Amino acid sequence: MKKVQKRTLTRRGVLWLGQTCNLACYFCYFRTKIDDKEHPEHAFMSLEKAKTICHTLRHVYGNTAVDIQGGEPTIYPHIFELIAYCKEIGLAPTLITNGIVLAKKETALHFREAGVNDFLVSIHALGEAYDTMVGFKHGSEKQMQALANLHALEIPYRLNCTMTKEALSQLEKIAHLAIEKQCLVVNFIAFNPFADQKGRRQAQDVPSYSALKEPLQKAIDLLESHRIEVNVRYLPLCILEERYAKNGYNFQQLSYDHHEWDFNSWTWTTRFNQRSNSPELDEPIPILMYGIKQFNGMDFSVMSEHGTKAHYMKEVDIKEHMMRLHSADIPKTFLYKQNAKLRAQKHLEYHKTFTCKACSVQDICDGFHNDYVAVFGEEEANAFDLGICVLDPTWFIKAQEKVEE
Ligand code: SF4
Repeated sequence: MKKVQKRTLTRRGVLWLGQTCNLACYFCYFRTKIDDKEHPEHAFMSLEKAKTICHTLRHVYGNTAVDIQGGEPTIYPHIFELIAYCKEIGLAPTLITNGIVLAKKETALHFREAGVNDFLVSIHALGEAYDTMVGFKHGSEKQMQALANLHALEIPYRLNCTMTKEALSQLEKIAHLAIEKQCLVVNFIAFNPFADQKGRRQAQDVPSYSALKEPLQKAIDLLESHRIEVNVRYLPLCILEERYAKNGYNFQQLSYDHHEWDFNSWTWTTRFNQRSNSPELDEPIPILMYGIKQFNGMDFSVMSEHGTKAHYMKEVDIKEHMMRLHSADIPKTFLYKQNAKLRAQKHLEYHKTFTCKACSVQDICDGFHNDYVAVFGEEEANAFDLGICVLDPTWFIKAQEKVEE
């Protein structure tokens, strides 16, 4: 697998088929929707709707890859037809999965024959620790079989690991497993208060940043010694030693990971109609300008305050906004940087600490989660002193070797 250091914007979209799942991970972003069978985002959408969304990703947003997720996409009744359709239109399909279904070798083979590009398997622990986390006895055993099948069938896969408190003792084991089974990429993801986890995660489940520092650094060293790409998502850039800042993906860095999602199409697919099983779909909408009032003499003062809230479609003239974006001749990288700030500051309410004010990278870092500060305080912030104010989101990550898509 070729590795590159050149950083360009991702062209990967995302599709949520519906919040139906065969596991019950307590830290899931969709915990409420998965539990509530009456929730409008619970049931899977029709194949026709999923295909229309994929067609729009490819031909309106110019995406060339898509992350298909559920809930659990491997149990979507039309998954093989959807994969084949994506492949046919030039949208390389990845499935974000718990891998349980792939424990059957013939099923894994069926996915390969349908044209799946790769799998992103969520593996948060091994053995009993995993079974307890996800509420499924023998779940880990099935996952191990699934990874063995993917390895034997030469289907590429990557791993996601959510860093809950219990996961810290597992990071090194997961690294060894990834090395043994020749996984391409491992993503370590902070346990976040996003979506259904807002106001829900508890101090006993969330590790302090100081507690995760040592086991995480050890796991990164192990993986990188075998040239496996490692990404650390949503962790303040100063928590690990500076040499690991190249692995740090806050919102501004996400756009430069080709395995992450395009903010432009994500702005559309994240909206209710694109996530529910109702037949309706919204008209495609563009990425939003945020945080500045003017660019090249064009006024964005109204738009920059809106974000992607529910009222957005009603109060903003989309066509006019698209014309203004075009007329202002805004560099795409600038637009994506501002949109990253919208997501971190406005949607997810990240918090800049007192120490952040003196930090050289404060403009490209999200800071701390608000609810984290309420429990653990903000003393772990450790300002970078680089003698300059860094504005380029790729400042650190351009030193990282990444798998080329
Ligand atoms: S901006 Fe704040 S949280 Fe981010 S690296 Fe600097 S001190 Fe740490």
